[in-house]
Amino acid sequence: MTPPNDKVAIVTGASRGIGAAVADRLARDGYTVIVNYAGNAAAAEKVVGAIEAWGGRALAAQADVSAPQAVAAMFDKVEAAFGGVDVVVNNAGVMTLAPLAEATDDAFDRQFAINVKGTFNVMREAARRLRPGGSVVNFSSSVIGLRMESYALYAATKAAVEAMTAVMAKEMRGRAIRVNAVAPGPVATELFLDGKSPELINRLAGLNPMERLGTPEDIANIVSLLVGPDGVWVNGQVLRANGGMV
Ligand code: NAP
Repeated sequence: MTPPNDKVAIVTGASRGIGAAVADRLARDGYTVIVNYAGNAAAAEKVVGAIEAWGGRALAAQADVSAPQAVAAMFDKVEAAFGGVDVVVNNAGVMTLAPLAEATDDAFDRQFAINVKGTFNVMREAARRLRPGGSVVNFSSSVIGLRMESYALYAATKAAVEAMTAVMAKEMRGRAIRVNAVAPGPVATELFLDGKSPELINRLAGLNPMERLGTPEDIANIVSLLVGPDGVWVNGQVLRANGGMV
């Protein structure tokens, strides 16, 4: 564990899954971590409690990332409490799978509202407010490389995230702020596991030569690298973290 520093990290969608592991890891790296969530306050408080239990610093903050005012209010609250924001991890996301012929308007609107507009809302506040030396990590997905059936809408949202990542990196010129994305392969979280048979899960786990699913900690380690001192020369990139699947 690294001793606490004066840096502050917001992790969106940190009440469970990958975001919860990222929050814990960045707290261990010394950051004060804001554990953002949409509706699951109890789960977010549990993540905060677990971090505080080993001596880390964390605070839960409700904000639906798809709502611009809620995102701005969360940044206001964090700046008032801690003096600024250094790291933003745009992890909140949703996935609904269906072949295009069966995809609903609701599924399209919800995925674009949270994955694209939500990421944009948070990136806009980050672009306005991050302190020099800061860093943004967005969340894409390795399905962009795989192009599997039923993933069209979800992959389209992540393609938009990758495009915004590269552009924002250039727009931060002169401010020493880096913007990257991580693109996980299958990771054992509710988002991936829900609605899949054990056979399908096994098949997808076998697509990479390591022959297992990723863990939230595998991805949290990558985020830690990207925002930390060993990642300073990585900027505007998408890092696929999938055990070699694609
Ligand atoms: P997850 O287990 O389903 O957790 C999703 C998190 O996002 C929860 O904390 C949830 O909060 C939050 N969230 C959902 N909608 C939100 C909103 N409108 N505003 C704020 N927070 C919201 O998902 P995950 O698997 O950890 O996925 C994390 C990220 O990794 C996503 O961007 C996903 O697309 C990406 N990813 C995942 C995989 C995978 O295989 N798991 C692979 C590639 C990429 P509540 O608990 O309050 O609902």
